[in-house]
Amino acid sequence: MLLAEIISVGTELLFGEIVDSNAAFLARELGARGVNLHRKTVLGDNLGRVTDAVRLALSRADLVLVGGGLGPTDDDLSREAIAAALGETPAEDPGLIAWLEGLYSARGRVMPQINRKQAWLIPSAEALPNPVGTAPGWFVRLTGEGGRPQYVVAMPGPPREMNQMWREQVVPRLPLPDQALYAVTVHTQGLGESDVAERLGALTRQANPSVATYFRKTGVDVRVAASAPSEGEARALAQPVLEGVRADLARWTWGEDDDTLAGAVGKLLGGRTLGVIEAGSAGMLSTLLADEAGFHDAAVTTDHARLITLGLTPVTLRDAGLVSEGAARELAAGAREHLASDVGLSVVVNTRGENAGQAFVAVDVEGRSKTARIDWGGAPDQVRERAAVAALALAYRALRPAAEESL
Ligand code: ATP
Ligand code: MG
Repeated sequence: MLLAEIISVGTELLFGEIVDSNAAFLARELGARGVNLHRKTVLGDNLGRVTDAVRLALSRADLVLVGGGLGPTDDDLSREAIAAALGETPAEDPGLIAWLEGLYSARGRVMPQINRKQAWLIPSAEALPNPVGTAPGWFVRLTGEGGRPQYVVAMPGPPREMNQMWREQVVPRLPLPDQALYAVTVHTQGLGESDVAERLGALTRQANPSVATYFRKTGVDVRVAASAPSEGEARALAQPVLEGVRADLARWTWGEDDDTLAGAVGKLLGGRTLGVIEAGSAGMLSTLLADEAGFHDAAVTTDHARLITLGLTPVTLRDAGLVSEGAARELAAGAREHLASDVGLSVVVNTRGENAGQAFVAVDVEGRSKTARIDWGGAPDQVRERAAVAALALAYRALRPAAEESL
């Protein structure tokens, strides 16, 4: 299996002014194509450090992908760095010079002298055409220790240029295994990541199929992935493990792949209607539910007088406050009654001040209710979203057939 490293070059990447989406794209591509990615490095536009990074990566990997730094200016140093790491001297390639001059003359311009370095090549590099920019890439073939082939690939930083060069020029040149990947993500709710891992036991320690857990806003996801020479074989390899995961986590599973938690709640509603009252979450819960057929009506307000007309009692408001379990429970019941719905769902949340991050959610199904408390600070938009997702999770747990009896 090819072992790869990615080196992203750019001071603005290092300092976080732009996000390294190229490395994320390449990492997904490599995974899907059966290449083992071991490291990602981000470096500023510094010749010494990029040179060292290329040299070090070549001491460990078969494939080194360098992104960015192929422009014409003095701070575009990736060609120099690769040449220095390999002890080769760049020279202008006449064919590339002609191509570059042609690009400019087609627009009635003369090629600036600084662009000449975009026509550089080293003896071990082949130029990769860039039909959407001025920076050709480099595909460098080397012979490493014990005669094993190694590759250094340099691609331009602009994502459109990089994506196209990767797909059209780099992939066909790499000795990639004939691999198909089959993956299914199972979504769960109500278990922590370590509980999920414990239930899955040894499954998470095997490589193909691999079973990995991810903590998401909506709960823990479990991804089962297998690779094999064909799609059918990959699917067959994944199937028994996938069945095992589904069985082990059945009580907590709400969907797979592109399913959403709101969609899962919508499905459980069957023909019933859902009414929502939101105080402090600014319509976030309603937005998540917007496409669900049963979602019937919503009230979004923090106005106390209005909330009292929706079922909040003045006693609860005075004694416990708006962001309280009692208020959430009364408003869930109020959502059924005052919004004429079969199921009522409420969220009350503090996004600012001393108790920012505190929220209560409640669901009321035919007069039986369930509540949950969330207490986790953050920016107001995060707090609102977390509270809205918690309300959906609670509704999901309350509406699941097995759960409804235990309300
Ligand atoms: P150019 O010829 O445009 O100078 P370049 O190969 O020198 O290309 P950079 O100068 O490193 O590339 O980056 C050019 C632009 O491409 C950046 O300003 C940024 O918008 C985008 N870019 C570069 N690297 C990345 C990356 N890793 N992820 C996302 N965008 C990137
Ligand atoms: Mg540049």
